[in-house]
Amino acid sequence: MKLTPIDPPREFVVGRGEPIRIRDCARVLLEPDEQVTFVTEGGAEYDLARKVWGFYATPSMNARLSSFGLRAALARSPDQKYYVFLLERGKEADFERYLRLESNEVLGWLDDGDTLARLEEVLRAARAPLSCPCASNRFVLVHRYEAPPEGEVRFAATSGTYRRDLLRCQSCGHFVSVDEMDHDTLYAGDYVDANYGDLEGLRRAFERISGLDPSCSDNVGRVRRILEVAGTSGSVLDVGSGLCVFLHRMKAAGWRCVALDPDERSCRHARETVGVDAIHGDFMAREDLGEYDLITFNKVLEHVRDPVAMLARAARFLKPDGRVYVELPDGEAAIDEGPGREEFFVDHYHVFSMASLALLATRAGFRVETLERLREPSTKFTLRAFISPMSEET
Ligand SMILES: [Zn+2]
Repeated sequence: MKLTPIDPPREFVVGRGEPIRIRDCARVLLEPDEQVTFVTEGGAEYDLARKVWGFYATPSMNARLSSFGLRAALARSPDQKYYVFLLERGKEADFERYLRLESNEVLGWLDDGDTLARLEEVLRAARAPLSCPCASNRFVLVHRYEAPPEGEVRFAATSGTYRRDLLRCQSCGHFVSVDEMDHDTLYAGDYVDANYGDLEGLRRAFERISGLDPSCSDNVGRVRRILEVAGTSGSVLDVGSGLCVFLHRMKAAGWRCVALDPDERSCRHARETVGVDAIHGDFMAREDLGEYDLITFNKVLEHVRDPVAMLARAARFLKPDGRVYVELPDGEAAIDEGPGREEFFVDHYHVFSMASLALLATRAGFRVETLERLREPSTKFTLRAFISPMSEET
């Protein structure tokens, strides 16, 4: 520590009210991990510690600082400058007078855990590029991934430093995954490349999955449920058709099937291997998709940043009395087995709760017909819902 008194002190005047003369009386050079303690005659103590990276401006605001006679307050001046003040216990009247003269406002006290936890939610929401379906974004940190969880596919985007936060909204139970990796290249080709390779790889994966024993097949249960609710014939558009195992079964059940996928190979696979119509394109950009009795989003909306906007577009491609089937990963159930579950893998921006799926539907202009939770044969935790457009009048 090196203390250099300024003698005589450098004086300057500040203040919006009565002029306040400040006397600048010393410079203190601390080495990293050195600390000085400022004290008052009344017994309050304030520690300031140097670190190699800078300073701890205060001891812990909700613990040590208040036990040493000081309360931290976040304050704002009329010209939108923000300060942290430390009020010495017993000096409240002097503090109030000062605030009045200077027109400063105390925005809140930073000394109780509940207030700081609320502030944490606000700061996390401000940093998160994603919104939960209830839009309150009361996010708390559930888990920080420092490495990919076991079984997660390694995309080019995740081959460098891996860091990712799983946040959960305290209001609607929805999860979002926040990271700074580049996801933009994930679906145009990387996703298929990473998962299946070429057209032949798609065909082999299709044959393996469509050949599963019915008791082991997620698609068998899915199609059975859809036929129960939507009937045994009609037209279906499957958004994000991927391997097309689902449409293969819907076609066999008697439905007219159209696949939509952003990957050209998946579309060729749908036409050539599965024998259904396929449209290559982006659901958010295409206007000429036709009209359907049923539009399906099978584990698709969790992969986009704004699932409300994507789902809302579905209404324009529905026939009168048409409906939408939505299937999503169930984070609410999966989290009981930990954040390493596949429901929370990097390619899912959103992982849902029952409440957040219902809110997603409502915000996209739909009403929920049925909403259910299941554990699939593959062990996936899944939420599925049938939803239909809200009538225009309401
Ligand atoms: Zn929420």
